[in-house]
Amino acid sequence: MKLVLLGPPGAGKGTQAVRLAEHFGVPHISTGDILRRQVAEKTDLGKKAERYVRAGKLVPDDVVIEMVRKRLKQKDAQKGFILDGFPRTREQAEALDKMVKADRALLLFLDPEDLIKRSTGRRVCENCESVYHLLTNPPKEPGFCDRCGGKLIVREDDREETVRHRIQVYDEQTKPLISFYKEKGILVQVYGSGLIDEVFERAMDALTGAKR
Ligand code: ADP
Ligand code: ADP
Ligand code: ZN
Repeated sequence: MKLVLLGPPGAGKGTQAVRLAEHFGVPHISTGDILRRQVAEKTDLGKKAERYVRAGKLVPDDVVIEMVRKRLKQKDAQKGFILDGFPRTREQAEALDKMVKADRALLLFLDPEDLIKRSTGRRVCENCESVYHLLTNPPKEPGFCDRCGGKLIVREDDREETVRHRIQVYDEQTKPLISFYKEKGILVQVYGSGLIDEVFERAMDALTGAKR
């Protein structure tokens, strides 16, 4: 399965990507996770990306495209992948299409006010990047990761104003990719509301039902 996940910030892409990756036995590749790690480790790439990530702006296409090109060359990605957060622009989508053809693009959509609630309540493990929500998906022990015991933190770009800006960036730059993938005949659309398990079932139905 070579799957691209599309959808606004907070729609639940990362959460579903983890489950889909496990189901299909392919790696979950999140460009946001890779970039945040590079920023934390203060690598050259991280230094280039930091101000964009912090402000909720897109990191320049050339930087992200090269990063994904390298990642997709790794051995574990040869059998497939769940790409989460890439592509985000037409240029990225065209570059990806030249590297490898996706089997499906899955759009997760949600109402704008729900997106804000999801993002502002999000907590992430500073150690393993597992994602929780203060109200809807809390860890067993408040403040700590179920998987590794790491400390849960608030992403700097999950402040409400920055989330609103990220949604606007999505509307302007990423939404046009819906028609890009529709034209290729590989788009499936899934409503992201409801329990995490319900959304997963919906996604699986959409992916298997739409198989040619
Ligand atoms: P979300 O899951 O809420 O949509 P991500 O973790 O995917 O957020 O991305 C966080 C930030 O990382 C983005 O706001 C942007 O600054 C940067 N980023 C991630 N993926 C890309 C990409 N494909 N192109 C440009 N910037 C990106
Ligand atoms: P994205 O990667 O699209 O930005 P995430 O997967 O990080 O979205 O989810 C955003 C927030 O919403 C997280 O705090 C996550 O725990 C929570 N969440 C994800 N899916 C659901 C759901 N179906 N119901 C309630 N909360 C959810
Ligand atoms: Zn953890």
